[in-house]
Amino acid sequence: MTRTILVTGGGTGIGRAVAARFAAAGDVVHITGRREEVLVEAAAALGSSVHALVCDSTDPEQVTAALAELDGPIDVLVNNAGGNTDFDLPDQGGLAGVLARWRANLDANLISAVLTTTAADDRLREGGSVIHIGSIAADQGAGSYGAAKAGLASWNVDLAGRLGARGITANVVSPGYIRETEFFRDKLPDERAEQLVEATSTGRAGVPADIAETVCFLASPGARHITGQTLGVNGGAHVTR
Ligand code: NDP
Repeated sequence: MTRTILVTGGGTGIGRAVAARFAAAGDVVHITGRREEVLVEAAAALGSSVHALVCDSTDPEQVTAALAELDGPIDVLVNNAGGNTDFDLPDQGGLAGVLARWRANLDANLISAVLTTTAADDRLREGGSVIHIGSIAADQGAGSYGAAKAGLASWNVDLAGRLGARGITANVVSPGYIRETEFFRDKLPDERAEQLVEATSTGRAGVPADIAETVCFLASPGARHITGQTLGVNGGAHVTR
């Protein structure tokens, strides 16, 4: 059966790798993002089963309009859109500045997933999957960005409880340091990148395909009893029991 997949932020990095992985499996994939040219280029590169949909996931009207563009039920929703907005938003100082920077990260990483999932809820096919891209920052800090990702994981517990009766799973894939994306803009010093690699047991940075494989597994028939979980993909940089 050809599945319908929605990947937010699917034009670059991890989201693009997720879209490519599902497309390679024969699924129809819709990718969203704010930059039309990026999405159109990605869709063209990934093949005719990948479709671009311009949408800011933090804007309720745009999310509603994007969902209206999709036909039929959605088998897999991947809430990948996000990133650390502190890289783009200058510190204006004062409490108003604190508020702006916290709201931006909460909007980008938590509210975006809540809005998209809520808008898609009655379109999710029984037995389907919702997968959010969290972050190791939820366990290791990183200010408002880490707090937003921790909130995402907490909200997912509630979501999994609600969707379970319909056989729909809801999980978080939590990456460590992943290279070859736009996440760090060009602002990650080489020394810091080396530290992040040294913190792993595998001795390497992650790549988007590492996350894509895990996402595809969670959407597969073999993962139907895994829900409400946060699954770290970080080479051992954060360990759990
Ligand atoms: P990228 O910056 O390459 O990807 C983020 C994507 O999200 C972009 O395509 C961007 O497109 C889109 N996006 C951002 N905000 C919005 C929005 N409001 N509405 C719609 N789309 C949006 O970085 P990554 O691939 O690394 O990041 C993907 C996810 O992985 C993020 O949630 C990030 O927090 C998480 N992550 C990444 C890690 C890493 O080391 N790379 C580590 C841990 C987690 P556009 O700007 O056009 O909207």
